[in-house]
Formats: sequence, C-alpha cells, structure tokens
Amino acid sequence: MTQMYFQKGFGLGALVAPALLRTYASPVVERLRQGGFTAAAGDLRLTLAREFGFCYGVDRAVEYAYETRERFPDRRIFLCGEIVHNPDVNARLQEMGITILSGSNDPAIRHAEIGADDVVILPAFGVTVPQMADLTARRCVLVDTTCGSVLNVWKKVRQHARNGFTVVIHGKHYHEETRATVSQALTESGAHYLCLRDVREAAVLCAFLRGELEAADILAQFAHACSPGFDPDRDLQRIGLANQTTMPTRESLAVQEMLREVLRHRHGEAALAERFRAFDTICSATQDRQDAIHALLDAGGLDRMLVVGGYNSSNTQALAALCAPQVPTFHVRDASCIHPAAICHRPVGSPTEITTCDWLPEGRVTVGLTAGASTPDSVTGEVVERILAVRGYVPADLR
Ligand code: SF4
Repeated sequence: MTQMYFQKGFGLGALVAPALLRTYASPVVERLRQGGFTAAAGDLRLTLAREFGFCYGVDRAVEYAYETRERFPDRRIFLCGEIVHNPDVNARLQEMGITILSGSNDPAIRHAEIGADDVVILPAFGVTVPQMADLTARRCVLVDTTCGSVLNVWKKVRQHARNGFTVVIHGKHYHEETRATVSQALTESGAHYLCLRDVREAAVLCAFLRGELEAADILAQFAHACSPGFDPDRDLQRIGLANQTTMPTRESLAVQEMLREVLRHRHGEAALAERFRAFDTICSATQDRQDAIHALLDAGGLDRMLVVGGYNSSNTQALAALCAPQVPTFHVRDASCIHPAAICHRPVGSPTEITTCDWLPEGRVTVGLTAGASTPDSVTGEVVERILAVRGYVPADLR
C-alpha cells in the first residue's frame, strides 16, 4: 500500500474557517486592533504590541489539524507531540478526538499503537529523522504541518554539514524544533552538532576556542547538547552556525559575532570563510513580534507588561525576556492566572510559576500586552477581559 502523505492541506479551508473563527478569534482583541492597538477604561490603559499571537506557521498547522478531522472523520488521529506550545490549542484538538502522543523519545515506543489505518499529524516544529522513518514504516496517513521556516533551517544545517562544518545551533537542545533540526544535520556522513542556549554558553565555547578551556570542560558542560562522539578538538575546526527559529534575534546576532571574532583571531581573516559560516534562521514572525516589543518599550509609559502564552513556548519566553529588564513583566499562561489582588506567572528563566500580590498599582496605570506566536487571540482576549474586570470594567467601557 502506498503511504498517504499530505503537506498542503485538503482544500477544506472554507469548511473549517467558521470553527476556527469561533474558537480562536476575540472581539475585544479585534476592537483593540482596529482602534490603533490602545484603548482606555477609566484610568486603566491597555496597549497591545502591533504584532502578536498566531504566526503564519501556527495558523497553517492548526487549520490543517481541523481539516484533517474533517477529511478523516472515522479514523483515529494522533498528533506527534503538541501541535504548538499552547495548552488551550492542544486541549481543543483533544476535544476533537485527536490524541497527543508523548512520553518516550524512542519512536518505536512512542508510536507503538500506530497502525496503517491511523492518521498522524506532524507538528509545526517538525519531527526528528528517526521519528519520520518510524512513521513511514508504519504506513499510516501522514499530515505534515512542519512550518516552512523550520524546513529552511533544516536545509541550511544540512548544507553546513555537507560542506564539512560542524553545526552549532543557537537554541534549546531539548526543544522539539532543535531536536528535529540536529537530526537533519546528522543525515550527512560524519556530521556533528553542538547547541548553545545563550551568550553565556557561547562565551564558554569561545573560551575553549581561545585555548582557555580543555576539551573535557566542553564535554562536561555540553554533554546533553552535542552529537554522540563529539570531540571538541576535532569537531570545532570548522563551525556552521544557525538558530532555532524563535530565539531572541539580538542574542543570536551576538552569538554570531562572538564566534566570528574568536575564529578570526584563531585562524586569521583570510581563513575565516573556510572556518566559519552563519545563517540567520530566526523566522520573520519571531522577528516581527520582537520588533513590535522593542517599539512598544521604546515608546515608554508602560507600568506593567503582560506576555501571554504557554510556559513551554520558546518564542513567548523570548518576548518576556525582552520586556523584563525594562518594565515589571508577567508571563501568564491564560486569564486564570489573573486575580484581583494577585497574579500567577512564570518569571524569566524560572522553571516554576509563582504568585505576585498587588501586581496592578492603584490609580492611573498603563498595561502593555503581547502574546506568543502559539497564543490564539481568544486567550489574549480573555486576559484583556480579566484585567478590565480587576478594575471593575467590561470591554464595552474601552474608549
Ligand atoms: S514561530 Fe516561526 S518557525 Fe515557528 S511556526 Fe511560527 S512562523 Fe513557523
């Protein structure tokens, strides 16, 4: 039997559009958008970033999932992990009878119950090469929603690896997208990779490249973030850099400059092109959302900033990290985090949620808002309504 593989939807967009609108749109967010992204109720002003919420990749992935349910009403449908990192979106897909596969990273275990009659949706951040091979062998129907911007990163890292460059990724080694990306690099013979989470880890790598650290120091620090058999002395002679699509752009550029500089110093300007190559693979949606935050912060006047999105959403974390140094910032999962006298939120870099009391000052106050690329407007809208309610207002009071 030939495997059925779908990558471009089923042409059922018009059929699922009403359900998507009903589920994920928000009248109050739309009103703020139409009103220039800012409005006030009494002495409470709300100001939205000009780019926020669902990106093109998430829009497409969620629509494909809805189309898949329509196209295969009688089949079992599985999602290979979360479709995007937003609990509300994943919960709604589960309500539609779609089962999220989780647990073991071993594809044979994770996919154990998948058979040829089943349908499997691949998430926006893609799956690893071994996962894909296992699913292909099971001959199930595959609906691939991998974002085009992620496919672009895969292409770039394969190019690095094919040309003999060890792939260095500015990204989180445990994130689904980065795991899928490094597995692509390893399809090239003799390839290796190393993941750097931030400038602090880039500085460690640079110290090694300057001869200030031993290979053992690198292996000790990056044991879980490099390829099997990685040898720092052998595998850092030529470096090809790329990014997880949702990292902070300015940090990615800083990492790039740090590596370029240290390799220029080590090998000389003339040899640099043969020792270091870099592709900026931050996606345009991430860039737009971060640019909008910079614009909002530069305009000034914010007393509080709320960043709405899943706690495991990389791009939402990046937005919160941009805001936190400049204004008291609360990364909230959804409206249930907001209470009259307290707010539950996850501080930047913290693995746990905490509660902060008296988060909204009395009197005249301006609250900035943004939402990660996997956060639907419906969730952002509920947050807006909850903030208004804390001050005793309803959306109709916004002017
Ligand atoms: S954040 Fe970027 S890479 Fe990820 S799904 Fe959205 S557009 Fe694609």
